[in-house]
Amino acid sequence: METALIEWLRRRVPAHAQLPLGIGDDAAVVESLDAGRTVVSTDMLMDGVDFRLTEADPRRVGHKCLAVNLSDLAAMASRPTAAFVSLALPRKGGRALAEGLFEGILPLAEDFDVAVAGGDTNSWNGPLVASVTVLGSVGQNGPLMRRGARSGDRVLVTGSFGGSILGRHLDVRPRVREALRLADRYPLHAGIDVSDGLACDLDHLCTESGCGAIVDLANIPIHPDAERLAAMRADGHPPLDHALGDGEDFELVLTVPPDVARSMLTEQPIDVPLTDIGEIVAQPGLRARDTDGRVRRLEPTGYQHEFG
Ligand SMILES: [Mg+2]
Repeated sequence: METALIEWLRRRVPAHAQLPLGIGDDAAVVESLDAGRTVVSTDMLMDGVDFRLTEADPRRVGHKCLAVNLSDLAAMASRPTAAFVSLALPRKGGRALAEGLFEGILPLAEDFDVAVAGGDTNSWNGPLVASVTVLGSVGQNGPLMRRGARSGDRVLVTGSFGGSILGRHLDVRPRVREALRLADRYPLHAGIDVSDGLACDLDHLCTESGCGAIVDLANIPIHPDAERLAAMRADGHPPLDHALGDGEDFELVLTVPPDVARSMLTEQPIDVPLTDIGEIVAQPGLRARDTDGRVRRLEPTGYQHEFG
């Protein structure tokens, strides 16, 4: 990393109890909270794919780069401890861009008590690529995983879905506190965060659990952005399609036994609404129940990176 940038960053990063050695040495030393297992997640974001610097302020982009990683830790019901930020910067204006990105990263890190512990910075004749790695700890119940869903579980979601491309995909509020609170209070079976799309990510969860799901279409919480986007595009896709397939909502999908679901829905113990959208079934694949009760196959639409 460029020396001047390292010095700038060292001045900006507050001391952290779990970081005896942070930015400036060959490697960082991170104190483990519970001397147990460490959860690690990495997400790489690219200009032109995950954001557009021509349209979005670097601070919002920096915020997103860390927030999507924190969302993955939330999906594991893991408490974030440290973040490592690696940037491939365009040569022209790279330093100012790096500072702008960190102006978005550092407040979010502070908000979630995450130590920005290191990373790397290179410059090249290409667009910005930002890769963030986060470490997290897990409590006694261990990490929440995709593979724990059981037939008969209810499928609960936080928040509402669709149309995040209108701006919400940049201003992600990772559901870390919500996940920790829920995992602390209830026996959660499985969880995933919605990055690719609600249907697509529920399908991922089902695949890992060796089961399927029936989604009640009438119960899908549709974000007002999905309504706006459907009206703007007027391409025949109703708001529900956007809620099921748009992605980057960064809400949580959780599966729990029916009695636990009832408690969670009655108690609504977090600031964002919990909604029951369906059930886990033994038969693999996704199906949808229409308002008239008919059940049909549901395509797990969503975003996938393409490469050959
Ligand atoms: Mg994820």
